[in-house]
Amino acid sequence: MDGPNVVRRGAAAVLAAAICGWLSTLGQSAAPVELLAATRSEDPPPKPAPKPKPKPPPPDCARAKCVALTFDDGPAESTSELLDILAARKVKATFFLIGENVAKHPDLVRREHEAGHELADHSYTHADLGAASKEDVRSELTKTQDAIRRASGVTPVLLRPPYGSTSERLAGITRRMGLAQVMWSVDPLDWEHRDTGDVERRVLKAVKPGDIVLMHDIHRTTVRAVPKIIDRLAAEGYVFVTVTELFGGRLEPGQEFVRRNSGEPQGLP
Ligand SMILES: [Zn+2]
Repeated sequence: MDGPNVVRRGAAAVLAAAICGWLSTLGQSAAPVELLAATRSEDPPPKPAPKPKPKPPPPDCARAKCVALTFDDGPAESTSELLDILAARKVKATFFLIGENVAKHPDLVRREHEAGHELADHSYTHADLGAASKEDVRSELTKTQDAIRRASGVTPVLLRPPYGSTSERLAGITRRMGLAQVMWSVDPLDWEHRDTGDVERRVLKAVKPGDIVLMHDIHRTTVRAVPKIIDRLAAEGYVFVTVTELFGGRLEPGQEFVRRNSGEPQGLP
């Protein structure tokens, strides 16, 4: 079956020779000079694009004293102050965002993402998802996911149902949407007391390795408790991780997570 191919190749060679011959007959005309110039300009090999800085690997929370600080209901004006506090201490947190507030402050959501914090879903209107209809749950979650994606380019993989209100139905929907349900293990009731010293004391008294701390960045009284909480816990050897890092990325959609599995070794040297 080589015959026809050989013939075709032969024909191509003849054609190429004819073109070269034609070019050479042009002699000193402009066309070959242009070709030469084009070749020369390609001489130095293109410089490779600068490599992005490698991110340090996340801590191994099976061994390290990890704690996840989480902030609900934002973003709001006070979020900006919190982001400054976290940046100054190089601490990563997780933000459970209300879709309506994301639409109001997309710039703050983008800033959260660019600073390396984890963005997560907390419904669009702070709805009681455990009691809501299937249609309402879907709409609450989809609208929030879309708003966060529009603001930051990120599609969250975590949901914290407002009030911790969940149901079999919500478990099914979140499983299909690829969202793990994240609860909490330390709650200083900051929204109730609105007292900076009280938030500091309650959190510092309760935190153990593997905990998820629930706070609200919509209250300045809470935001102002964060420096002392971080500085004290850091002095005790705690490392601050996002929720996904706390679980080493192993968060099953639809399942509920309250704190890192206490059966796993924690806080070993
Ligand atoms: Zn909330």
